[in-house]
Amino acid sequence: MPEDSIDHQLQHVRERISNAEKQFGREPGSVRLVGISKTQPASAIRAAYDAGLKDIGENYLQEALPKRDELRELDICWHFVGKIQSNKTAAIAGNFDWVHGVDRMRIARRLNDQRPPELGPLNCCIEVNLSDEQSKGGVMPEELEELALAMAELPNIRLRGLMVLPATSDEFEQQRLPFARLANALAELQAHVPGLDTLSMGMSADLEAAIAEGATMVRIGTAIFGARQPLQR
Ligand SMILES: *Cc1c(COP(=O)(O)O)cnc(C)c1O
Repeated sequence: MPEDSIDHQLQHVRERISNAEKQFGREPGSVRLVGISKTQPASAIRAAYDAGLKDIGENYLQEALPKRDELRELDICWHFVGKIQSNKTAAIAGNFDWVHGVDRMRIARRLNDQRPPELGPLNCCIEVNLSDEQSKGGVMPEELEELALAMAELPNIRLRGLMVLPATSDEFEQQRLPFARLANALAELQAHVPGLDTLSMGMSADLEAAIAEGATMVRIGTAIFGARQPLQR
């Protein structure tokens, strides 16, 4: 996608977010936009950055690292939003500011142990499996509290909240259901675990429904960067 259209699309996404904040009684500016740039070239990320986007999310480590390296002089906050393989945790812990898809203690402990201390605690969200997941990942709701309590003890992890990747739907009311369930799960956890402030939910097709249900971070790919490029892996 040409760079001036990335700028244009980004402004459009920002308008959708602020309209949804208004419509659903959310505080203006309370929803943080993370641009998901999987399969997009570094030049596309740079164009979005120049248009004011500072949060960038990637799914595939082997694709993310060269882009991150190429853009290292930019003040980007890097989010890892993909599936986490245990042999990749060291590189994730060393190269990202946020990890959205933690779903088991084994992974959390490795991220904790491998986080370079000089970078400070790694911001993490727990991915919850609310059935019909696109990703098939995520902790089952009945195991969520135990995982959250254990993760909250890890000194190099800062547990921030929850993330969900639900099956897509064209129906607004249908889209709201998993987001409402995730918001409820966070509210329950907040009674037991301090410092939770993040609901990472909502993508290009359903960001309004996510904001209606309390999203604090939306993860937007195609609406900013256009259709994904064929994967080079
Ligand atoms: C690809 C991806 C997104 C962005 O999806 P779009 O529909 O392109 O906005 C968000 N979150 C995760 C975890 C993804 O893998």
